Amino acid sequence: MENIFSYTRPMLEDYFTNLGEKSYKATQVFEWLYDKRVSNFSEMTNLKKELIAKLESDFDNYKIKIKKYQHSNETYKFLFELSDQNYIEAVVMQHDYGTSVCVSSEVGCNMGCAFCESGRLKKVRNLNTYEMVEQLLLIEETLKIRISSVVVMGIGEPFDNYDNLINFLTIINDAKGLAIGARHITVSTCGLVPKILEFAKLPMQFNLALSLHAPDDELRSKLMPINKVYSINEVMNAIDKYYSLTNRRVTIEYVMLDNVNDSDECAFKLIKLLKGKNVYVNLIPYNETNHLEFKKTCKEKVLHFGKILQDNNITVTIRKEFGSDIDAACGQLRSKEV
Ligand code: SF4
Repeated sequence: MENIFSYTRPMLEDYFTNLGEKSYKATQVFEWLYDKRVSNFSEMTNLKKELIAKLESDFDNYKIKIKKYQHSNETYKFLFELSDQNYIEAVVMQHDYGTSVCVSSEVGCNMGCAFCESGRLKKVRNLNTYEMVEQLLLIEETLKIRISSVVVMGIGEPFDNYDNLINFLTIINDAKGLAIGARHITVSTCGLVPKILEFAKLPMQFNLALSLHAPDDELRSKLMPINKVYSINEVMNAIDKYYSLTNRRVTIEYVMLDNVNDSDECAFKLIKLLKGKNVYVNLIPYNETNHLEFKKTCKEKVLHFGKILQDNNITVTIRKEFGSDIDAACGQLRSKEV
């Protein structure tokens, strides 16, 4: 049996057409699921009985459950239990301008970044599309909110689960789905070059963020093993190509690790690397964990690093520190359960 939340509207149109039904039934089902939030087929009153019976025999839904959620100021952290008893997380951040959610794309992650709790636990499997969609639906239902932006930056490397990711993005971007504008959706990658180029060719205007975290190959290869496969030079060329195809500015994510990548020398190397590119840098305060030896850079040093970049005409934002008191770093809540 398939999960209805794994189906994009075109996929559902094909399903109905193959049954000899009109394709607009897909839009009707989407309106029930995502607008009226009715997932019980028998309550979809504009569908005939035989069709409801067919849908009931082909599809199920709501397979993931909220195991627990924690709250600290404007941040909520959700731990979800999947039907095979694996766990994933999502972080909800409430801003003045709306609510953004950071979702997971895999159970664990194979990319092995040295500073990351999810990498430490390794990948168990990809998430299905519905497991990503249901994270958002359950959050909206629980907190009685509408999500205004989504970042795929939780547990997992999204481009390592590309097809399910794209179906997920298509559903949440669909005007009859969750209707979240493409410009409010960001996918963060550690730098899988072929997928960056594929992503650039999509018609939807999704944003891209690159987790760079180091300004040279030597340091980046120590922190992020993927750098031994795709060097900084190759990733930067892919970013240039992405920009030339999409005209959309790429975010460069840079987690600040004390005495590792936060020196003035690193800042100047970063400037040299990014000069003239249409990117902006997001400096991320590190969330320390018990299992890993990395420490966070102090606030003054983060500000100093940011100022060096700014003085050299690199646009910088410093991410507000969310929820370090509630295990908000990617993978921390899950690691307590596995
Ligand atoms: S930082 Fe991202 S890509 Fe790296 S191990 Fe963690 S989840 Fe995977």
